[in-house]
Amino acid sequence: MISANDPSRRSWVTIPANSDFTIQNLPFGIFKTAQLTPRAGIAIGEHILDLAAAAELGYFNDLNFDLAVFRATTLNDFIALGRPVWRAVRDRVASLLDAQHTTLQNDAAAQARCLILQSAATMLLPIQIGDYTDFYSSIDHATNMGKMLRDPANALLPNWKHIPVGYHGRASSVVVSGNQFRRPKGQQKPADAEVPVLGPTKLLDFELETAFVIGRSTQLGETVSTAQAEEHIFGMLLFNDWSARDVQGWEYIPLGPFLSKNFCSVVSPWIVTLDALEPFRVAGYTQEPKVLPYLEYTGNCNIDIHLEVAIRPEAASETVVCRSNYKYMYWTMEQQLAHHTCNGCNINVGDLMASGTISGPDEGSFGSMMEITWRGTKPVTMSDGSERKFINDGDTVIVRGYAEKNGVRVGFGECASKVLPAS
Ligand code: CA
Repeated sequence: MISANDPSRRSWVTIPANSDFTIQNLPFGIFKTAQLTPRAGIAIGEHILDLAAAAELGYFNDLNFDLAVFRATTLNDFIALGRPVWRAVRDRVASLLDAQHTTLQNDAAAQARCLILQSAATMLLPIQIGDYTDFYSSIDHATNMGKMLRDPANALLPNWKHIPVGYHGRASSVVVSGNQFRRPKGQQKPADAEVPVLGPTKLLDFELETAFVIGRSTQLGETVSTAQAEEHIFGMLLFNDWSARDVQGWEYIPLGPFLSKNFCSVVSPWIVTLDALEPFRVAGYTQEPKVLPYLEYTGNCNIDIHLEVAIRPEAASETVVCRSNYKYMYWTMEQQLAHHTCNGCNINVGDLMASGTISGPDEGSFGSMMEITWRGTKPVTMSDGSERKFINDGDTVIVRGYAEKNGVRVGFGECASKVLPAS
């Protein structure tokens, strides 16, 4: 059997040029339409393969799992079936959509039932997130923040190269792409004020991140090694961790960010499996000083994923303000997971682990407005001539990402969200 990742595979479904959703990708999501209740699907070109309908047509009958998982409102039950099932379903769908296979290609009635136009569908949050953790694993981001907020000569704190620094976030306010939210209020203390005030944040910022979804639970007390980590990861999403910088600056000492980070975080709707990203693996960052043994790893643990952020004002076309790459990460997902569980903290299917802002080494690759405008000192110009230091009401922020190699593109689609005025 040829691999689902085989670059020579072509689909009989029309795939537009530069589509993120090639036959080598086949990411999982949850969608609904005016006629169809929420269900699992796989993106292909401009369509969705309806997994619930495909199951009813008998295409997965020999795979020996409970097909009801595809009619659930989240992917959790499907993910909990384990990696052999994820792989079997992705392989089967690759065959069904392959130009060399006729089963679905030659059955117009079946196609009408299980191929849905993405434009006719609403994407839903694909997982029920039990816990959400946010790391701080980009060395360029951590260095930029340290230079701005602390000491330019000693930007990184002493622990940073020894620990994949992170904090526990809040799952309840993670939403799917396409949502809008009101500019949050929070307590701030302006530099020239004697006492703090409560008001809408003036320094609303995005954070360009990715996140991975836990695919295999552990028991309390169990640890996951870097070598085992991949078995526990279902796939990756784009992530925008909205942040209120003025609130953050006042509240974060001594326990870290609280309300400045939990008012809205946004995921892209399609979960790209680690299997689909495998061909795009690259060597990790050279880590010096040497990490503790439980954080050592072998193999190529970074991934070459182009990332970008665009701002679209209310009545203007978008402007790309950042081009970065996941390969700039200092700490890998494998190390993050090994660290997260080294004390026996258990993880559950559907948990979300975000990378932290992913900045690259150059100015054009910084992953937040804080860094792009260097704390507001270097505004960026939009297509309509207006300037941004941070994010304005009416702005839509769009994160995009894709990997590309040997003529094969595996992408994430969009992670978009719009800011409404404070209530
Ligand atoms: Ca963050």
